[in-house]
Amino acid sequence: MVIGRFAPSPTGPLHFGSLVAAVASYCDAKSQGGQWLLRIEDVDTTRRVEGASEDIIRTLQRYGFEWDGDIVYQSQRSEYYEQALTRLRNLGLAYPCTCSRKEIADSSTQQGIEGVIYPGTCQHHPIKPNTPIAWRLKTPAKRISFEDRIVGWQQHNIGQDIGDFVIKRADSLFSYQLAVVVDDAMQGITHVVRGADLLQSTTRQIYLQQCLGYAPLLYAHIPLVLNNQGQKLSKQTLATALPSDNVKDTLINALHFLPFLPQPFPTFSSLSDLWRWAIDHWQMSNHAKTIT
Ligand SMILES: [Zn+2]
Repeated sequence: MVIGRFAPSPTGPLHFGSLVAAVASYCDAKSQGGQWLLRIEDVDTTRRVEGASEDIIRTLQRYGFEWDGDIVYQSQRSEYYEQALTRLRNLGLAYPCTCSRKEIADSSTQQGIEGVIYPGTCQHHPIKPNTPIAWRLKTPAKRISFEDRIVGWQQHNIGQDIGDFVIKRADSLFSYQLAVVVDDAMQGITHVVRGADLLQSTTRQIYLQQCLGYAPLLYAHIPLVLNNQGQKLSKQTLATALPSDNVKDTLINALHFLPFLPQPFPTFSSLSDLWRWAIDHWQMSNHAKTIT
C-alpha cells in the first residue's frame, strides 16, 4: 500500500510553491491507488501563525484535494517524540548539550553542509548546571545514501558533513527532523514527495530512521518554484497566497510546472475532471529505492 503525505507548516497561507508540492504528492499516491495524508507541521510553535492551519485546510478543500483519515497536528504529538528521544537515550545515541550558539561557533573548526559542525563538547565534558538542555544525536563517520526518484543518487557522511544534530531544543521543543521521522513511521508513510529545499535534510532523517529501527521510505524531491529574483517562494520572500478564484487555472499551472504529465493537456470541464485526468496520466518513476 502506497501512503503519501502533504505536510505544510502553518507559518502563513499556501502559495504556488506549496500547491506544486501538494499536487505532486497527491498525484503520486493516488495514481498508485494509495492513500494521501495531511499533517500540519506545527512542531515549532514559536513560528505558528494564528489561523494559518485553518486557512491551509480550507484552501486544500477549495482546490479539490481529498485526504485520507484525520488531520495530524505535530503540536499534539509531543509524547511520541519524547518516547523516541527516550529510546535514543537508552540506546546511548543521544546526549544532553548546554552549549550556546556562540560557544559552538568559537570552538568548532569544521564546516559542514549547514555551517559549523558541533565539536561534540558536551559528549566529553560535564554539562553546565542550571542551563537549559538541548539533546543531540550522536553521528558516526558513516555514509548515508539514497537514490532520490527525481534527483538521483545522494549521500552524506553523517558525522563529517552534518555532525551531532539537535533533536530536542533547549526551549524544550522537538526538532523538525525528529518529529518528521516519528510521524512518517507512525503514519506508515511509504512515499515522500516534497520540495527540493528539504533534500539536504533527508540523510539526517534516514539516519534517525535507522537508529529508531523504522522502515526505509522512498523519496522524491521536486524542483522549487522560484520568483523573478530566483528566490524560493516562501513567506520570507513575500510569496502571494493562492487565489480563491481561478482555482482550475491555477491547478493547471501547477500541473504544467511538473514534468510528469503528457502535453498538451485536454480541456477540463470541472475540477473533478481535471483531477481524474491528472491521476490517470501521472508518470513518475518509482524505481529508485533507499539504499542504506
Ligand atoms: Zn554542548
